[in-house]
Amino acid sequence: DLDAIVIRAGTGDRLAPLYLLLADRTQERGLERMRADFVANASHELRTPLTSLIGFIETLRGPAVGDTEALPRFLNIMAEQADRMQRIIADLLSLSRIEMTEHQPPTEMIDIALVLRQVAGFMEPILREAEMTLALDIPVDLPQIRGDSGQLTQVFGNLIDNATKYGAIKPDPKTPDGGGTIRVGVAIAPDANFTRPGLVVSVADDGPGIPREHLPRLTERFYRVDKGRARAVGGTGLGLAIVKHVISRHRGRLVIDSIEGVGTTCLVWLPLAPEPARGLQDGQMTV
Ligand code: ADP
Repeated sequence: DLDAIVIRAGTGDRLAPLYLLLADRTQERGLERMRADFVANASHELRTPLTSLIGFIETLRGPAVGDTEALPRFLNIMAEQADRMQRIIADLLSLSRIEMTEHQPPTEMIDIALVLRQVAGFMEPILREAEMTLALDIPVDLPQIRGDSGQLTQVFGNLIDNATKYGAIKPDPKTPDGGGTIRVGVAIAPDANFTRPGLVVSVADDGPGIPREHLPRLTERFYRVDKGRARAVGGTGLGLAIVKHVISRHRGRLVIDSIEGVGTTCLVWLPLAPEPARGLQDGQMTV
């Protein structure tokens, strides 16, 4: 995708010098399109609950106001729609904040076990409601990592939340949703090239899984396997996009492994804090 920009200089009938600038605009156009798509998607996602809210407000202004029986039901739906808009806006703001920090690697030294225990704590009511069990398997004496504890809390919060929301869905519509176990584990593991030491955190559910063809697109903003289902369980479609950006800021890796009918496992690999440089002295050897 090449753009030719012709610049002519000089006046009158004298032959003007001609410059031809060739610029490759492919990448720029790709980014522009992504940005435009994002704004269009975000507007659409917000407009849907807003349209519903406006509809109910109009109804309540009409003669139906006298129908006291319908009123609590209407108010419930309105509260749900307002809630949904609030969740989308909160996730959009999170995403933009994370993107702003993405080029600065985190500096805090953190204990991943602490982060995971905190997430498990605040997820407790949601887990209980879905009748899900969370099994934490965290070894003692894990090394600390350099990370942003707030952002990593969001990452594991989103992954455990997904495992709760989707893991509890039963394949047979006659079987009521709910129940199941989410396993969260941590292990010391190098990266795929065995060059950097790190920690790998796994979040596994025994839910319905994700069809293979969807896996590569899951971290795209607003991408959902089943829009209706995801909306019904309160998803914004931004959870895994947030996860991806935080992990990228940590120079880590995300692997989503899923088998239909068996379950989904999300693996988050994070590098350990770099060792402080130990200056070698003459005659000293390292092993
Ligand atoms: P949402 O806010 O809709 O949950 P996410 O970005 O967190 O958005 O996830 C994207 C989609 O990936 C979800 O809508 C769902 O279809 C699918 N998904 C994510 N986690 C799981 C899981 N553990 N089991 C099954 N499907 C999942």
